[in-house]
Formats: sequence, structure tokens, C-alpha cells
Amino acid sequence: MQQHTDRVAIVTGASRGIGAAIAERLATDGFTVVINYAGDAASAEKLARRIEEKGGRALTARADVADPDAVKRMFDATEAAFGGIDVLINNAGILKTVALAETSDEEFDRHFAINTKGTFNTLREAAKRMRNGGRIVNFSSTTLALNLPGYAVYNATKAAVEALTHVFAKELRGRDITVNTVAPGPIATDLFLSGKSEELVAQFAKMPPLERLGQPDDIASVVAFLVGPDAGWVNGQVLRANGGVA
Ligand code: NAP
Repeated sequence: MQQHTDRVAIVTGASRGIGAAIAERLATDGFTVVINYAGDAASAEKLARRIEEKGGRALTARADVADPDAVKRMFDATEAAFGGIDVLINNAGILKTVALAETSDEEFDRHFAINTKGTFNTLREAAKRMRNGGRIVNFSSTTLALNLPGYAVYNATKAAVEALTHVFAKELRGRDITVNTVAPGPIATDLFLSGKSEELVAQFAKMPPLERLGQPDDIASVVAFLVGPDAGWVNGQVLRANGGVA
């Protein structure tokens, strides 16, 4: 369904997991996609080639979203290559589950630097540079509604993202740009699976009434809706896509 052929989307954290599925889906829908990543260049390049083989347009952009200068350079490179930016998907994120009492200063700072400041950095750039009629999708998590032990700092970073979403949607008044957040439930990616026993993964998979783990494509579909014409009246919202877990 090629309906966005003149539109350009930056997807952060798109070398693997949910971000890679989003980049691939948006390319299928006709967007030119910028595949951002922090370290895994090989996976990002492989995805770009796959998109191009299917007739899409893609560029890879290494940038630690926590670094404002790197984010600026990514926006510069996107404008230089494609002339502008219409869509920003703030998907890059990290999770390490650990009890609050056991959380080091470094882990606390790293989570806020990537999950919260990373989102802030791209939003600030988007405010100055995104074309009118654009779409922004941030990433929170359904863990914010579950309040499970071990998620205090991660949830705090995502609560901040939701706060940014609500205010930023209003600050873009007059630009015809929507700002929404997706809050996935458990999705089978490295972020969710790493460090969990098979039993714990099975427990999570049983939690939603749909009785399965989500797949990256489940979230890519939601993002495709939010950046597409049918979601034009959805603005400043948090959409929990989680199989009904909360
Ligand atoms: P993932 O499989 O671990 O992938 C994370 C992606 O983010 C990778 O492409 C990684 O790139 C990139 N990344 C990490 N740090 C970065 C940085 N500083 N700058 C730029 N890119 C960076 O994670 P995921 O499960 O797809 O999660 C995507 C988003 O969904 C996150 O915001 C997460 O909090 C949220 N979420 C996930 C779940 C879930 O169950 N999976 C549930 C709720 C919310 P490199 O490989 O290059 O490092």
C-alpha cells in the first residue's frame, strides 16, 4: 500500500526489535525511512538493503539518541538526503530490571539519558525542523500500568515520556502535527527476552487475555495507523497495545 511516497520518517532504534519492524512497515507503506541505531551497524545496513530490494528508500544513521549533537547531525543528514522530515518515531530504548535499592547511579543515569533525554533530544529537533502535517510517535510501556517490582526506574523514564507527549502535542498548535505515545505490552524482542528464564517468559505470555507474547509487527501496525491518514484526529494520546494485559 504505497500511500506516503513523498514522506520521510526517522525511526530511532531501528536496527532490530520493534524499531526494525516499524521501519520495514513504513517503507512498505511508501515512506522513505531513516534507520537510526547506536551500535549495531551490520543489522541496520542489512535492513536498509532489504527495504531497497523491495523497492523502498532507506538511509542508516548512527546516532546515540542521548547525545544532542549526534541527534542534530542525524536530522541534518536526513534533510540533506531527502529534503525534510515528516515523521519521527521515538522507539530507541533500554531496559534493565533491577530493584530500586540495587540500582546504581550509572544505571539510573543511563536509563534517563536514553529513554527520556533521547526522546527529548529528538522532539526538540523536530519542533524546529519537522514539516507541517507531520506525525510523532513516542514509546512508553505497559509496565507503567503493571507496577511490577524491578521496573521502578524504567517506568519513571517512560512516565516522563508520557508527560512530554501531552504537553508537546499542545505546543505544536497550528502546525498540523500530531504527537502520540504507544505503550506496548510484552513483545518478543531482545529487550524483553534477555535475562528471563523460559518459565518467566511463559508467565508473561499468559498474562494478556489473548494468551501470547506480542510480536514486533503488532506494534508496527499500531504505529502505521498513528502516522497514517486515519489517525489524523488522534493527538496527545497514550495508546496501550498489549493484548489486554492492562
Ligand atoms: P530492542 O530489541 O532491545 O532494540 C532496541 C533498539 O534501540 C536497537 O535498535 C538499538 O540499537 C537501539 N538503541 C539502544 N540504545 C540506543 C541509543 N542510545 N541510541 C539509538 N538507538 C539505541 O528493544 P525493543 O524491545 O524493540 O524496544 C523498542 C522500544 O519499545 C523501547 O522504547 C522499549 O522501551 C519499548 N517497549 C518494549 C517492550 C517489549 O516488551 N519489547 C514493551 C514495552 C515498551 P543498537 O542495536 O544499535 O544498539
